[in-house]
Amino acid sequence: MPELPEVEITRRGIEPFVLGKTITAVAVRNPNLRQRVPRNIARLVVGQQVKSLRRRGKYLLFECDTGSLILHLGMSGSLRVIEPQSAPRKHDHIDLVFGGSAVRLRDPRRFGIVLWNRGDASRHPLLARLGVEPLSEDFSAEFLYRMTRGRDVGIKQLLMNAGVVVGVGNIYANESLFRAGIHPRLRSKRLSRERCAKLVEAVKATLVAAIAAGGSSLRDFVHSDGASGYFQQHYFVYDRAALPCRVCGAAIRVARLGQRSSYYCASCQS
Ligand SMILES: [Zn+2]
Repeated sequence: MPELPEVEITRRGIEPFVLGKTITAVAVRNPNLRQRVPRNIARLVVGQQVKSLRRRGKYLLFECDTGSLILHLGMSGSLRVIEPQSAPRKHDHIDLVFGGSAVRLRDPRRFGIVLWNRGDASRHPLLARLGVEPLSEDFSAEFLYRMTRGRDVGIKQLLMNAGVVVGVGNIYANESLFRAGIHPRLRSKRLSRERCAKLVEAVKATLVAAIAAGGSSLRDFVHSDGASGYFQQHYFVYDRAALPCRVCGAAIRVARLGQRSSYYCASCQS
């Protein structure tokens, strides 16, 4: 599944091809995504110039003259820059054409979203209640400390709550908690100020490292016609059940926590 780093890398990869460009056509080969692509999408967006390409959580916002095209990659979506006349493959459901080039959405599982919002995108129901951006200054030790007070939920669950902070999926929650030395089950309200600071730093460092890992494959990511385009990473704990901890050598444990697998080192995380 594309996580925040993949979405950010996608944004950086396609930005040079869309910024300041005008949408000249839209091809919808299959409108049946998570939400049906509006029938009149072409009439809404053709002629709009892209003023900026922003990311909010895992949403990409093509901000135009009178509104924004909101795009989400869902479970399996990826974007590529192509020549508009190149033949679509199976699962290539939508092209946004910008004159001589196009951005093509491939989405085998069709959980993606493509829609148009007039006016300010941040007020759209999908975006209005999102929490803070993890790489922004809003996500601070003080913010996390405040959010954890009085909350009797495990810290991992709180980190993955998009109403608190966006874009910290299962992989990055596991990895950040390891880096901060915090057990995923620790009750949020028991986190000290110092540990909140450590965790905020760990979340940012984990995401920045993942984006850097993806940045090295940016060219392939945007131009290739490969299968998924998601990049491989080196994890401390995620998906490493029973393997030795990279720091202390103890076996990594796995536990089911709120439907998701939690990976942790019982000696490094308390
Ligand atoms: Zn360890």
